[in-house]
Amino acid sequence: MTPVSKNIAYHLKKLRKELGWSLDRTAQETGVSKAMLGQIERGESSPTIATLWKIVNGFHVPFSVFLEEPHLLHNPTEPEHLPSVGSKMYVNPIFPFDPELKCEIFIIQLPPGYEQLSAPHESGIIEHIVVVEGTMEVFLQGAWKTLQKGKGLRFDAHQPHGYRNTTSRIACFHNIIHYTGKG
Ligand code: MN
Repeated sequence: MTPVSKNIAYHLKKLRKELGWSLDRTAQETGVSKAMLGQIERGESSPTIATLWKIVNGFHVPFSVFLEEPHLLHNPTEPEHLPSVGSKMYVNPIFPFDPELKCEIFIIQLPPGYEQLSAPHESGIIEHIVVVEGTMEVFLQGAWKTLQKGKGLRFDAHQPHGYRNTTSRIACFHNIIHYTGKG
């Protein structure tokens, strides 16, 4: 089990227990099959980013909640390396969710040729993208928009969106997510 799938398994089980949700109920709320949820919870499967977002939406919690290391929760330290979620995209929560600011900030690395499409998140979620290395493209309202290093974009994440890197060099961006609660 990778450290990331371990964290996801831990938090999925914990949230489910806190709410008293069965796997059936959790499948209904998240749109992720009961079999897949069971595999994730037992650490037998590492969910894709898209699947993890479905789970996040179903539980109405911030994305970074699932990436927190249980033993670091009350004693946070700097992560030592970028944990991987899925096979190729690297997601590192540099500022995990802050309940007062209702905000979390990730560094995301896209390897050459990588494309990530995302279903709409819950309403009230605003994303910022700021490119810090290379060039990437963001999919919004049916079109890919090129963003170069130093450029940014803000959008309502309650719509289909995506990120891709069509260059031959790595692209890296800051992903700043606000949970405004305006659903
Ligand atoms: Mn998103």
